[in-house]
Amino acid sequence: MSLESPLRRLPPVHALVDRPELLEATRRFGRDAVVEAARGSIDEARAALVRGEGSAPNPSTLAVRTLVILDQSRRPSLRAVINATGILLNTGLGRAPLPLEAVDAVARVASGYCNLEYDLGLGGRGARADGVESLLTRLTGSERAAVVNNNAAATIIAVRALAQGREVIVSRGQLVEIGGSFRLPEIIEVSGAKLVEVGTTNKTRLADYERAIGPNTAALMRVHPSNYRIVGFTEDVPIAPLAELAHARGVFAVDDIGSGVIQPGWSESVRDEPTALEGIRAGADLVLFSGDKLLGGPQAGLLVGTSEAIGKVVRDPLMRALRVDKMTLAALESTLRLHLDFPSGRSSIPVWALADVPTDRLLERAEALATKLRSLGLNALAEPSTAYFGGGTTPTEAIPSAAVRVEAPVGPLKLSEGDWARSLRLGDPSVVPRVRGGSVWFDLRAIPEADEPSLVDAIRRTALDVERTSA
Ligand SMILES: *Cc1c(COP(=O)(O)O)cnc(C)c1O
Repeated sequence: MSLESPLRRLPPVHALVDRPELLEATRRFGRDAVVEAARGSIDEARAALVRGEGSAPNPSTLAVRTLVILDQSRRPSLRAVINATGILLNTGLGRAPLPLEAVDAVARVASGYCNLEYDLGLGGRGARADGVESLLTRLTGSERAAVVNNNAAATIIAVRALAQGREVIVSRGQLVEIGGSFRLPEIIEVSGAKLVEVGTTNKTRLADYERAIGPNTAALMRVHPSNYRIVGFTEDVPIAPLAELAHARGVFAVDDIGSGVIQPGWSESVRDEPTALEGIRAGADLVLFSGDKLLGGPQAGLLVGTSEAIGKVVRDPLMRALRVDKMTLAALESTLRLHLDFPSGRSSIPVWALADVPTDRLLERAEALATKLRSLGLNALAEPSTAYFGGGTTPTEAIPSAAVRVEAPVGPLKLSEGDWARSLRLGDPSVVPRVRGGSVWFDLRAIPEADEPSLVDAIRRTALDVERTSA
């Protein structure tokens, strides 16, 4: 039989669009959208026939496939995912989930008007970040505070405001690259300052900074290595002696702590992370950190410090371009209030609530989940596993966790583990698992218990439903 005949049995687009299965969709979404999806469905079928796969599908199957394509094209491209990677602060997955209080606050200011730059008492112009600034100064003991888009922006504006056209001294062991695009030497360059490197990769002493300070030096900067550790014979200079040296020589001390733990004692699991409070107490003129790492709030860059240094930052013309919007401010203010309620507020911050779930509890949940998946016919086992904060924080600090390891389903579908992981990612809800050693792993550390039914549903549909739609 020639290739032509099954191809000729495919219906023309308009005939497919006029089928009764598609009437409702045409009424709701318009004929153009349905025509486009119908064309996609016919193109797919034609391509399969050309590859020699099967026979021409009947028009009703093509219509159902048209509805699936239409549905997919209408899904938002930015969507919620279930994070089964065990990385709590995955930059690719949007870092920290927001506290409910923050989500409510965002909804309240976003859906209507708010007093973003309006003083309700005076009935006139007010300052944008007043509420957040006063919370930040209370929490860290600093004189003033400012908020920008992210910590990269905080670094740029800090270096620019304090050291444009002059030198910033940084240890060679702290010239970090974070997240592939934050490279400290480049950040200092775009800020218009000159980087002066001191010490070696593993050892930098106070005397190295001391020797490098010259008439053109504006600041000494310490950068938390965040996503790596130099181990073995190492030496670096804590912020207190660095700030003391800076002030004795009339230059600024800047401390980029990265992940944003506010006070010591916040959690045993991050006891080695520098804190904003300690940076301020040690005398840093500016302490910089992210809002969406261990602080557990929205993407933001927070600057706390002296009136003089923050004053220079907020007067810099770049501030206008880096400022945050009302939704960020609302989310940040409610997250900071939870920090003020330390330690009770911690359980309301999702990244900490997830980190604090006892590992025994996770193992129980993994056992129950594995049993359920086995009852669906999958080869599933509960296993201890290792989770991480991630997101450029505490890279060596493993968090004990539990996972369910599932073999890619065999049977009519014969999926490889990579194919299965892909359809999980593209499914609804979307699930991002780990693929390792021929299995797909679902780590429970970053999955709220309330999401487990959706997880089971996503696994069931992608692994077992025979009506598989290529995505
Ligand atoms: C993460 C990090 C940054 C970048 O922060 P973003 O908020 O992602 O822009 C800068 N410095 C340090 C030390 C970091 O850990």
